[in-house]
Amino acid sequence: MASENIIAHIQAHADLVGISSKVINLTAGRRTLRGDCPFHKDQANSFMVSPEKNIFKCFGCGKEGGPIEFVMDIEQITHAQAVEKLASVVFK
Ligand SMILES: [Zn+2]
Repeated sequence: MASENIIAHIQAHADLVGISSKVINLTAGRRTLRGDCPFHKDQANSFMVSPEKNIFKCFGCGKEGGPIEFVMDIEQITHAQAVEKLASVVFK
């Protein structure tokens, strides 16, 4: 099991904008990027990514989190698998 420090490091440093923009089209706003949510049927640009905080939130379905939660839900994998996957990118 990964330590809390490793998880915190990944949540802060795995590039959520880069990760999520592989899956959805993001357009830049003033402080956030917006796009159609990949977690529900969305055509209203409900999905928001904050590059500053490295978190996402959907104003349609309410899903939110950091890079680990995004990868878990997109790839339908466990928390431990998402941590391992992102660790290989963050700690290269
Ligand atoms: Zn959504």
